[in-house]
Amino acid sequence: MPRATKIVATLGPASSSPEVLERLIKAGVDVVRMNFSHGKAEDHIARANLVRELAKKASRTVGILADLQGPKIRVGKFKDNKVTLRTGDTFVLDADCALGDEKQVGIDYKELARDVKPKDVLLLNDGLIVFEVLSVRGNRIECKVQVGGVLSNNKGINRKGGGLTAPPLTSKDMEDIKTAVAIGADFLAVSFPKSGADMYMARELMRAAGGHALLIAKIERSEAVTADALTDIMKACDGIMVARGDLAVEVGDAAVPALQKRMIRMAREMNKLTITATQMMESMVTSPIPTRAEVSDVANAVLDGTDAVMLSAESASGSYPVEAVEAMARVCKEAEKSAESKLDREFLDRVFTRVDQSIAMAALFTAHHLKVKCIAALTQSGSTALWMSRLNSGVPIYALTPEDGTLTKTALMRDVRPFTLAYEGHDREKLMSAAEQVLLDNGVAQLGDIVVITMGEPIGQSGGTNTMKIVKLGEHRPA
Ligand code: PGA
Ligand code: MN
Repeated sequence: MPRATKIVATLGPASSSPEVLERLIKAGVDVVRMNFSHGKAEDHIARANLVRELAKKASRTVGILADLQGPKIRVGKFKDNKVTLRTGDTFVLDADCALGDEKQVGIDYKELARDVKPKDVLLLNDGLIVFEVLSVRGNRIECKVQVGGVLSNNKGINRKGGGLTAPPLTSKDMEDIKTAVAIGADFLAVSFPKSGADMYMARELMRAAGGHALLIAKIERSEAVTADALTDIMKACDGIMVARGDLAVEVGDAAVPALQKRMIRMAREMNKLTITATQMMESMVTSPIPTRAEVSDVANAVLDGTDAVMLSAESASGSYPVEAVEAMARVCKEAEKSAESKLDREFLDRVFTRVDQSIAMAALFTAHHLKVKCIAALTQSGSTALWMSRLNSGVPIYALTPEDGTLTKTALMRDVRPFTLAYEGHDREKLMSAAEQVLLDNGVAQLGDIVVITMGEPIGQSGGTNTMKIVKLGEHRPA
């Protein structure tokens, strides 16, 4: 069985050389993440080209995810790049301060002073440093350092409990959307959305720039996890990222594991993709093996039903990027063997009204009962494969498509492996033989195996999947 859960790896200084990138791809990276919080547009474009070239060389399908920085509020720069803050000190955040020191620092969002009030708790650098607001005067926010530490240039600020009103897409994001489209990104991740409207806005901008990426909503604000907001955001996106770094700061770390389970369940029910992110293998930034806790974390995300697990600093700036991918791959494969990750029985109770969705479910049902070798979904857009992958059937799903963009989009879907099917004619028998040949050529099925094939008829006309066929490979060939 191929690994079902996908691996997303963030690229950065530790993974930019062609040598390391090639090893990452060979080790099993399915999607690379370009983090637009760092680096220039030219760097992202060059990296994307390199990824495509190396993926081709390694005969692997690798998708590209462009991750917008979003309205993350950050402190400015310090005279000496960093300061050490002592617990009990007073410290000022001032939008008008040009260069910081021991007493104060600038912030990149002028409205922050309007958003906070005395007694609010501000968390800096993912919660490592904690301030309590004492008073607000004009643009100056006077704080008491509750937990001190080293604060360096451009670290992020969150308010405990959320509620900061920074706009969803900054002018930098709007420029970066154009870069993401120029790159031909398969996925566009929007940071800190509060509502479905934020996602619609991103989609409009992407479409206006001529892009077709799947839209990923990063769930990382406390306002985004109320039942109503989450439903609204899910409807407006194609997938979510459980963005545990910022989310833990906003809702408290202890609330995150249950939220992760709830979000993944909900996403699967709504036919959306999921990426579980941040600190999954954090100790591997400096160590060649993960901790027991990290192994459990990755395995539990697999058991929760995530489509993909993600590496951030581990692959972007750590000392063991390749080892981190290998460790993730190993842990995912083992967790997938567990009975805990097998068929969702309630799928028979699901309600669906579309013909193509019904065929997808019929294929799963049949595959499960007949113990077939695999399902081959002949698909233009990849949606049949997506529906099939929302339920753990335990049967490998192969998405056979002529579209390059669909190949790379299915790279994120759990249980789905994409292959190119180049046939362009209108002959049903020839199409079936071509599909069978793809399975045989790729070694995923042998002559005599039973497979389920889904497709849309009439052949050669675009339209939804409406046909399912059960075939014994090689049966209708001349002896
Ligand atoms: P980031 O998002 O890495 O862009 O901050 C992920 C997270 O917050 O967990
Ligand atoms: Mn984040």
